[in-house]
Amino acid sequence: MTASKQNRYDVIPYRRCGNSGLKLPVLSFGLWQNFGDNVSFDHIREMCLTSFDNGICHFDLANNYGPPPGSAETNFGRILRQDLAGHRDELIISSKAGYLMWPGPYGEWGSRKSIIASCDQSLARLGVDYVDIFYSHRFDPETPLEETMGALDSLVRQGKALYVGLSSYSASKTAEAAAILKRLGTPAIIHQPSYSMLNRWIETNGLLDALSDNNMGCIAFSPLAQGLLTDKYLNGIKDNSRAAQNASLNQSQLAPETLEKIGHLNRIAAERGQTLAQMAISWVLRDPRVTSALFGASRSSQILDCIQAANNTDFSPEELTEIDVYATESGINLWSASSAHN
Ligand code: NAP
Repeated sequence: MTASKQNRYDVIPYRRCGNSGLKLPVLSFGLWQNFGDNVSFDHIREMCLTSFDNGICHFDLANNYGPPPGSAETNFGRILRQDLAGHRDELIISSKAGYLMWPGPYGEWGSRKSIIASCDQSLARLGVDYVDIFYSHRFDPETPLEETMGALDSLVRQGKALYVGLSSYSASKTAEAAAILKRLGTPAIIHQPSYSMLNRWIETNGLLDALSDNNMGCIAFSPLAQGLLTDKYLNGIKDNSRAAQNASLNQSQLAPETLEKIGHLNRIAAERGQTLAQMAISWVLRDPRVTSALFGASRSSQILDCIQAANNTDFSPEELTEIDVYATESGINLWSASSAHN
């Protein structure tokens, strides 16, 4: 593993993010789980370099990713120095602030104090002068939107972020935030919502339309519904799966009706010559307004499996109609409270 593959940019396509100058790989890699100090550094390094070697040049982080919070950024910073030092200008590194990171009134949400301090901490952990994208991780109902957006604008002016984005904001708050940022001269180029075959809120809430209206790209997180949209839970819960930890993927989310839908989707994927994981990612990418599918993994073989999704993002009308029967809301959107603010 040397991060030296010459043809890495021939593996997957790159899509323009809204109408910005930035292109993103159609698959981006997230370090929310499996990149903290609870996993061996060698394993983390192997997964990141497998991604990079296959053209996944966008790595998504946040202040609180771990465990412990912050350790994913520290571990990724070590890989940057050790393996990717000569590749910084090939990478899009993102981070975020908004969820609880440190004690007291400034360790979460969207005040100017919190956003700027958190970004400074992230830069120190990553060991970089700037991140490529910095996000407001969630809408803060108690802080004026002008203040949160003003803090994002300041980060760009201070040279600490190249672009800014929003995560899990509702359609109406996205439009308000985009208008503020446009006025400030720092356009919001990207939104990061949850989106998958079992969680389709961005289609019904108007978010995808709001993003088009505001020339913003969309990077869809948890396209595999944290692993539910794979074949791994069709025959019980394996010890080395996320559901076995019973934390962010709570076993109550594996309801019999959800498993039945997954079984049907698994069959449709096989008929398309795909694994269910591949079809789940291809399906998210079927809409050209989705710039990138932001997935996670616990081992490199999963990354190599998911990458194949990029080869087959076309669906026939008949396939889409059949998928719609089973690709229905399944009560798995952990982030719905954030996007409920109108
Ligand atoms: P996901 O892609 O829906 O789920 C990843 C999990 O799916 C893996 O950990 C693995 O589960 C399983 N998996 C992946 N590929 C597989 C394959 N080929 N075959 C079988 N199983 C496979 O995404 P996620 O990890 O929930 O989230 C992805 C990223 O989105 C995060 O890292 C983060 O960057 C971002 N995110 C952002 C927010 C936000 O608020 N903005 C929230 C959540 C996530 P096992 O671990 O069980 O093997």
